[in-house]
Amino acid sequence: MTVPATGNPQPTSYDVIVVGGGSSGAALAARLAADPELQVALIEAGPADTQDRVLDIRRWWDLLGSDLDFDYAIEPQARGNGGIRHSRARVLGGCSSHNSCIAFPPPQQDLASWEALGATGWDHVTLGPAIQGVLDTVHLEVPSDPNPFVDAVLEACADAGLPTVDFASWDLTPGAGRFRLNVADGIRQSSSVAYLHPLEDLPANLHLLLDTPVSRVVVEDGAAVGIQTADGLLRAEREVVLCAGAIDSPRLLLLSGIGPADHLRSVGVELVHALPGVGAHLLDHPEGVVNYAATRAMPASLQSWEIGVFADTSGLGVPDLMLHVGSEVFDLHTADHGYPSAEHGFAFTPNVPHARSEGTVRLRSSDPGVRPSIDFAYFTDPDGYDERVMVDGVELAREIAAQAPLRDWVDRELSPGSNVTDRAALSEYVRRTANTVYHPAGTCRMGAADDPGAVVDPQLRVRGIERLRIADASIFPTMTTVNPNLTCMAVGERAAQLLRT
Ligand SMILES: Cc1cc2nc3c(=O)[nH]c(=O)nc-3n(C[C@H](O)[C@H](O)[C@H](O)COP(=O)(O)OP(=O)(O)OC[C@H]3O[C@@H](n4cnc5c(N)ncnc54)[C@H](O)[C@@H]3O)c2cc1C
Repeated sequence: MTVPATGNPQPTSYDVIVVGGGSSGAALAARLAADPELQVALIEAGPADTQDRVLDIRRWWDLLGSDLDFDYAIEPQARGNGGIRHSRARVLGGCSSHNSCIAFPPPQQDLASWEALGATGWDHVTLGPAIQGVLDTVHLEVPSDPNPFVDAVLEACADAGLPTVDFASWDLTPGAGRFRLNVADGIRQSSSVAYLHPLEDLPANLHLLLDTPVSRVVVEDGAAVGIQTADGLLRAEREVVLCAGAIDSPRLLLLSGIGPADHLRSVGVELVHALPGVGAHLLDHPEGVVNYAATRAMPASLQSWEIGVFADTSGLGVPDLMLHVGSEVFDLHTADHGYPSAEHGFAFTPNVPHARSEGTVRLRSSDPGVRPSIDFAYFTDPDGYDERVMVDGVELAREIAAQAPLRDWVDRELSPGSNVTDRAALSEYVRRTANTVYHPAGTCRMGAADDPGAVVDPQLRVRGIERLRIADASIFPTMTTVNPNLTCMAVGERAAQLLRT
């Protein structure tokens, strides 16, 4: 392992430089370094993840907004909640070091859509070994403590027509189930824990540079030759791979002069290569909430959100609505609007898995120290699809809560309040108090080599620049129906396969 210390000389040249040690980057770097002939640098903006507050899954919520979080503000939203803070971890393991560890393999129907959109070789059969690589490396478990609330929710869902399903399946169907978590004995199994720990025993050819923010990719004669840090230029003899996540990978491309020409001109960045898709197509899972006060104290739970519900609101046979069910009131954005809270309560948080609104990541300045402008444009899709699915989710939450097994847990509905039934009023409530499931993606979208809006081809190569790839949530052609962390790790695994061929 190489951790920079003042006065400690570092190599300044490697075979492959991986920028960002998050869900994808840690998996990629570990797999590449299995080849002892390859000198790999993993360059991470934040510190090591060996602190208890990171590793203890029970403390995940405390990390949001902390010193280990980029904690991005977003632009004011015409139809959504501009008060959302987008948590993006600044620590080894990335967002897998501060997320809630809900673990899903990428559903095969999502990968089929990726293929159909030009991502050849990303169907579930071809991607199978990469997914299996994740499942073989990351320990997953379903919390098994007896929990009468969980039982009541699953029975209520079944009574509402949503059978109990096993989320281990790669074929996602409508139903409700207990989440599998990437946790072992209460310790998160982040990409860093699963692929890199113990950090003292990393292979000698894997050079880990912590607390080292990268400011840009250095391009010479149309090829990436290295990256710039505050300490100087680090050269990559073979490739640079950006794994800085769906906000910071496009930000780094833009800072490097790769992106929409007009935008780069407007912020004073010299154009290196015009690529209009960079920073466009910003996707997310927008999330609403229905809060209930409970008639009794809630049972203890590892990370408070143990159940997921998937429904098909469009009659297409596949889920297009997801709800998380929490054994706590989730008043992050409802309290600000004057809705009551309760010490004992629970929440349904409907989200739109395939939201159609698309936003942008843009620079405000050519200075890498200035935060980007992030506009999710929530609920702006012209057909009102996102809003419709979200309101369906509020109504489904109420339907589940009204079923006999759950009914006697309900003291009262705290927000929006059982008197609000009109769909327009529900839409207004749910958009104003919306949060995010923290799943930004799609800003360096993968597509066919001749797709002008794509940023990377199916081999993850940046179009028009040699020796530069991207491997993280930014390459998603469409959003996964499920929580995307394991998919990001599979992207890292897949990138390692592609780099080796
Ligand atoms: C609060 C929260 C809860 C979530 N809960 C879940 C969940 O339960 N289940 C699930 O499946 N998904 C969850 N997610 C989403 C999931 O964690 C992310 O989609 C996934 O981790 C993204 O992986 P990534 O590799 O794209 O980026 P990241 O994991 O974010 O990695 C990016 C890395 O790059 C580093 N970096 C950024 N800029 C630079 C730079 N300039 N120089 C060097 N390094 C840089 C960052 O510090 C970070 O380590 C959650 C996310 C959040 C924020």
